[in-house]
Amino acid sequence: MERSLKKKLIASYLLVAVISIILISILANLFLANQFKNYVIKNQRNKNNEIFMSINNAYTEKKQWNIDVVENVGMDAMQYGMIVSVYDANGKTLWDARKYNNGICEAMITHMSENMAKYNSNWKGAYVEKSSPIYVNAVKVGIVKIGYYGPFYFTDNDLAFLGTLNKIILGVGIFSLLFALFIGIIMAGNISRPIQRVIKAALLISKGNYEDRINDKSDIKEITELTSTINSLADSLNKQESLRKKLTGDVAHELRTPLTTLQTHIEAILDGIWEPSNERISSCYEEIMRINRMVGDLEKVAQYESDNFILDKAEFDFNELVKNILINFQSEFLNKKIKVDFIGESAIAYGDKDKLTQVVVNLLSNALKYTNEGGNIEVKVNNNNENVELVVKDNGIGISAEDVPNIFERFYRADKSRSRQTGGSGIGLTITKSIVDAHKGEILVNSRLNEGTEFKVILKHYPKS
Ligand code: ADP
Repeated sequence: MERSLKKKLIASYLLVAVISIILISILANLFLANQFKNYVIKNQRNKNNEIFMSINNAYTEKKQWNIDVVENVGMDAMQYGMIVSVYDANGKTLWDARKYNNGICEAMITHMSENMAKYNSNWKGAYVEKSSPIYVNAVKVGIVKIGYYGPFYFTDNDLAFLGTLNKIILGVGIFSLLFALFIGIIMAGNISRPIQRVIKAALLISKGNYEDRINDKSDIKEITELTSTINSLADSLNKQESLRKKLTGDVAHELRTPLTTLQTHIEAILDGIWEPSNERISSCYEEIMRINRMVGDLEKVAQYESDNFILDKAEFDFNELVKNILINFQSEFLNKKIKVDFIGESAIAYGDKDKLTQVVVNLLSNALKYTNEGGNIEVKVNNNNENVELVVKDNGIGISAEDVPNIFERFYRADKSRSRQTGGSGIGLTITKSIVDAHKGEILVNSRLNEGTEFKVILKHYPKS
């Protein structure tokens, strides 16, 4: 059966409290009552001995019994529930509590048996008598008989003590139960409140409301982790959602420009305003090519980011690859009077050579596009123990700090007018990153506006799987 966390927590606290109380009261009653019983028995024995000694002392040096002393001892013993009778050597009664006051003696025994019945309804006790001869100088001078309720009995004070003990246990028990209930409610509230918030937030998120955040603070580590996980889940869903919206807008926008150009050009030709000259038709053709390139790029991103993207991996020297691509770029760099420094060492990579070629081409063409005439570009291939590294560094226009986190997104252009002039669609780095990701590698960027940009691609020699 499903129960709320709150109820479960409170019930467990109460259960622990009840079990502890039951255990404590059983143990207290068993051990304490047992100890107390032993104490009472020992006490009875001591008193018996005391009475024997006192009666003994009542035999004077004149070889006579001092009846007054005997009577005093006997009456004193009655106060402790003991019925004493003393006989001389011939068995003649010197003093007998029953003879002194039988009524009190009977009442005493009845009271004791009542006390013990109160303590334990199944109590099996009875009146017992212990007699012992008294010797003076090895001559028997008398007999003392002590009657009491055996094997032991509790006086009113003893019973009051045991009663108080049980009352204390009961009081502590009730207090512990209330305390457990109180702590249980507080703890359950502390745990269940933020969980309720997490549930609410998760529900809102599942309905597409990604703005809601959980701000409740908790001193429970797991709850804090749970809330921050849900918050970052909402963050990334929010980001995904706005990216999705932005992407749709961007695609529409990117297609709109060339399509409008095409439309106006063709309309002008159809209306006879423009001659369908070679030049005009080739300008239309260029726009069509532009759209085609963009759709092609988008297809590539979709393909590289899909789960079924399979890399055609093989071992090859990454350094050789970069060197060859640089040769192809040579004339373009020369045209822009850009000086290229290449430092490379043989570095065997394991990956899809065609796709990695695209990575190098994209980074070099960006460096070419965004570096002014007469600038410098530095290309490095490093072979580390675990990684193959490619560094492409330029002293071009750079990227502002606020643009850097976005440059790998589709259609993102830091400098819109300039990159449109250069023909960029803002997909090159998206493709680059998706290829590096597919290789389980890393791409890092370090850039300063108007100072230059450095891209670093890190590939493992042998990435797992
Ligand atoms: P594009 O086709 O516009 O170059 P990319 O995806 O390759 O698209 O790059 C995204 C944006 O990042 C570019 O529009 C540009 O603003 C910026 N960028 C990329 N590389 C560099 C670079 N080397 N120097 C300065 N800015 C760069």
